[in-house]
Amino acid sequence: MTNRMAAGYLLMLLLLLAVMPVYAENVVLVIIDGARYSETFGDPTRAHIPEMEELAERGAIVDEFYNDEYTWTSRAVPAIWCGDWTDVRDTTYQSQNTQYTLSPSIFEYFRHDTNAPADECYYVLKSLSSLWLPSFHPEYGPDYWPTFYSEGWTDLDVLDNAIDVLHDEQPQLMLVYFADVDHAGHSGVWNDYIAAIETADYCVSQLWNAIQADDHYRDNTVMMVTNDHGRHDDQHGGFSGHGDGCDGCRHIMMLAIGPEIESELISTEYRTIPDFAVTACEILGVDPAYAGGEVMDEIFVQNTTGEPVASPLPDQSSLVNVYPNPFNASTRISVTLKQPGHLRLDVFNLNGELITTISDGSVSAGDQAFTFSAVELTSGLYFVRATVPGQLNEVRKVMLIH
Ligand SMILES: [Zn+2]
Ligand SMILES: [Zn+2]
Repeated sequence: MTNRMAAGYLLMLLLLLAVMPVYAENVVLVIIDGARYSETFGDPTRAHIPEMEELAERGAIVDEFYNDEYTWTSRAVPAIWCGDWTDVRDTTYQSQNTQYTLSPSIFEYFRHDTNAPADECYYVLKSLSSLWLPSFHPEYGPDYWPTFYSEGWTDLDVLDNAIDVLHDEQPQLMLVYFADVDHAGHSGVWNDYIAAIETADYCVSQLWNAIQADDHYRDNTVMMVTNDHGRHDDQHGGFSGHGDGCDGCRHIMMLAIGPEIESELISTEYRTIPDFAVTACEILGVDPAYAGGEVMDEIFVQNTTGEPVASPLPDQSSLVNVYPNPFNASTRISVTLKQPGHLRLDVFNLNGELITTISDGSVSAGDQAFTFSAVELTSGLYFVRATVPGQLNEVRKVMLIH
């Protein structure tokens, strides 16, 4: 090959790399077992999750995230990692009775599609004598299972182990399972349940700090956090149990943070458990071939055509932030525009009725700030919609507390 040809190929390769989406290299998934939404992001004061509240200001929350099928752990946890409400079958593994999934898991999709060895893919959880297993699917199966790290007893033990794995093994995909909130909930002691949520909140923030403190992971890692189910709401038996179709059991949290995830986004799109792993597969660039979920496009940084883009661009146009939120009396809405345009900023109530219009006129490019004064409104949820024809159409949920 001549030098000129070689240069030509190199140029082509560089051009290809330039147009290919650049996804995060690493993904860390977290399951907090059995935290009810009313004690996590459903609580407008976020009293028990101060750390995750802070992460949410730099990340995205899906406010309408649901377990839409089985609200118990043995079916919902596998559904989280399969991206699918998979059937399960009984089996014996290492002389213990357990179950395996019929659908392949994200571990299998990841290792199959990337040829990653087992130490690139970790499942970190407390010591369990019988692990729920991924699939024996003919195209995937045990050759593509994760490395199980099942040691310790408490969420704090699991946190330590997860941080050790990050530092020592540097896996590209890790799933961390925190079990203590569910156990504390079943005890029926409210203070224990709340304390377990606060510990899990701490664990999530420590995990994120460990990611961002590590050269290998900093700024190229997405962390996503969810629950397998909630707990009964007070009309259906209260926090000590779960397992039916009440809203308390179904409504759960979804938090994502990382390089191509929107910041300060509270999405109100209806999403369900299978969408969690499917979105993580999208970030990893692998194909969840047998999964039933959908990609949660709305949590990714959006460009002007509404298509997700790979990373936040400095000249990006559609950006609406509300701070503080929740707020008392008034809050500040900032809008960033790439080009001048006609900005309409409307506030709606939960019934979709227009409450007030904050802006309806031409604005110049750059950062624009507005004050939403709500002194005369009653406490509750409102929606701020920002539209600029051809440029911007975003909704932010805001919580007013007098
Ligand atoms: Zn559970
Ligand atoms: Zn229930």
